Amino acid sequence: MRPDTARMLRDIAAEIHYTRALIGREAFAPRVMAAMAAVPRHLFVPEGDQDLAYANGPLPIGWGQTISQPYIVALMTDLLACGPDDRVLEIGTGSGYQAAVLSGLVAQVYSLEIIPQLAKAAAERLARLGYLNVSVRQGDGHQGWPEQAPFDGILVTAAARAIPPALVDQLSPGARLVIPVGQPYAHQDLLLLEKGPDGSLALTEVLGVAFVPLTGGGPVPATGAPEPAPGA
Ligand code: SAH
Repeated sequence: MRPDTARMLRDIAAEIHYTRALIGREAFAPRVMAAMAAVPRHLFVPEGDQDLAYANGPLPIGWGQTISQPYIVALMTDLLACGPDDRVLEIGTGSGYQAAVLSGLVAQVYSLEIIPQLAKAAAERLARLGYLNVSVRQGDGHQGWPEQAPFDGILVTAAARAIPPALVDQLSPGARLVIPVGQPYAHQDLLLLEKGPDGSLALTEVLGVAFVPLTGGGPVPATGAPEPAPGA
């Protein structure tokens, strides 16, 4: 293992320890940590930042977006609790790093990215590096990916103002949605939504987080203003 990868895993373990009371766990699944160890993170950051790639922080990837810090990627992956036969959806491909981590854990990853240039670059990068079970498409994640639904897990890597209903609809019974929800550049909570085998929903607040905003989704409704009556 690269020495910087070993350091990254130690930093993740340390942050798990600091946050254990919030996240309700002392460690992440060994297969999640193995997937983190296996992905060459320096190949997902801009060339000038490669020496920082394994530090436990986010990094800019262009277009005002960031690759999430390793601890958050590992936490979200652990919360998803996905298995080797699963088909999962990611919203917010960005660099493709989170998709690459998921690639080693599941059967098929579908990933949506709203910025065309990032979608194209990530799709090319993932193919070049041999992550052949990842499909990237440019689009607005608020609608999910209906043609490939339902999913055994959905992971959203940008902060939504509210949980997009289409994503809940596209969860299989027993599947999980991991999503940061809150105001742009203000308080956000990482949420875990579990759909039971009978379709019931259970929501857990995991941790305060700071993600770039989930854009798209149509106009932001004016707060306090009543919805116009149908036909008005
Ligand atoms: N998972 C990424 C980090 C993503 S940063 C990685 O591993 O590198 C969040 C990403 O979500 C950005 O690339 C942003 O362009 C994208 N995004 C924002 N709103 C979106 C939307 N509505 N649909 C799809 N992608 C969106």
